[in-house]
Amino acid sequence: MHIRTRFAPSPTGFIHLGNLRSALYPWAFARHNKGDFILRIEDTDLERSTQEAVDVIIEGMSWLGLDLDEGPIYQMQRIDRYREVVKQMLDAGLAYPCYMSEEELNQLRDQQMANKEKPRYNGLWRPEPGKTLPQIPEGVNPVIRFKNPIGGSVIWNDAVKGQIEISNDELDDLVIARPDGTPTYNFCVVIDDMDMKITHVIRGDDHVNNTPRQINIMKALGGTPPVYAHLPTVLNDLGEKMSKRNGAMSVRDYQKAGYLPEAILNYLARLGWSHGDAEVFTKEQFVGWFDLESLGRSPAQHNPEKLLWLNHQYIQNADPAKLAESTKPFAHELGIDTESGPDFIQVVGLLKDRANTLIEIA
Ligand code: GLU
Repeated sequence: MHIRTRFAPSPTGFIHLGNLRSALYPWAFARHNKGDFILRIEDTDLERSTQEAVDVIIEGMSWLGLDLDEGPIYQMQRIDRYREVVKQMLDAGLAYPCYMSEEELNQLRDQQMANKEKPRYNGLWRPEPGKTLPQIPEGVNPVIRFKNPIGGSVIWNDAVKGQIEISNDELDDLVIARPDGTPTYNFCVVIDDMDMKITHVIRGDDHVNNTPRQINIMKALGGTPPVYAHLPTVLNDLGEKMSKRNGAMSVRDYQKAGYLPEAILNYLARLGWSHGDAEVFTKEQFVGWFDLESLGRSPAQHNPEKLLWLNHQYIQNADPAKLAESTKPFAHELGIDTESGPDFIQVVGLLKDRANTLIEIA
């Protein structure tokens, strides 16, 4: 099998280290297996997606040396393809138009909640043999719903979490296209993963709930679901979900703070994956060792002191000439002339054993 993985970020705002870890693992898995690694930008949420976030992702990946075989592929440029598949599914009876208004849906939900039932779509517009559908209301643009299988369950063997089984009764008929025809998130992911021939989906475990829906659509379209590996979250040093609000630094912040990309890569590699008790290793070693079996099963916790310690290791062991080159921009920032004083490489060579960051050297 030719392995193909992808990193599929939504460019919506702040990109922290935990986000880049979701790029590192599929990249390493592809490189280890001599496969392909694809970057797909999930930018269909027009209100929240920004070019700035796309730039941070692409810069961050290239800073860490996570090279691409394909992409970036932007979902917004594939809208026609998604619409085409929606049409094919309608024609094949795999999907159907639903004219239930927002108001009716809310009413249904209130009623179900009052009866202590789980709110879900009741299948009113789902065609079945021998069933008469309601009269189509005038002037209403329908949503398109996927005809989820009834009965049975979806089972997959998650490479991190083990076997997961979700009953189809838990899943209602997913909206795959909105009244204006735009495709929805879960649907685009399926079409992309199929079209891009992705063999291994390695992503955050906030997507576990989406997986049974995606598998059902994929199977209905005749596809073979990929292997899924759902990564536990990265928590901050206080054990909270990482976010800008609680002080997470962006990838650019680390660059500006004088961290070396090698140290960040090594650090991220260990944030949810291990190889024996190896702590300091090269990128080549990491790629050589990487496997899905050694991914951690519990949330990883960000440890800024460990990152600083690793950065020190990389600075201490760096080649002085290379290190001097990396330090120059930081020195220039402080107004230091690196050309006419004592030999800058020798100065850096003297200081590197004591420094944790390039700023400290400068
Ligand atoms: N775009 C999703 C995110 O940023 C990831 C989707 C996926 O990997 O399937 O969380």
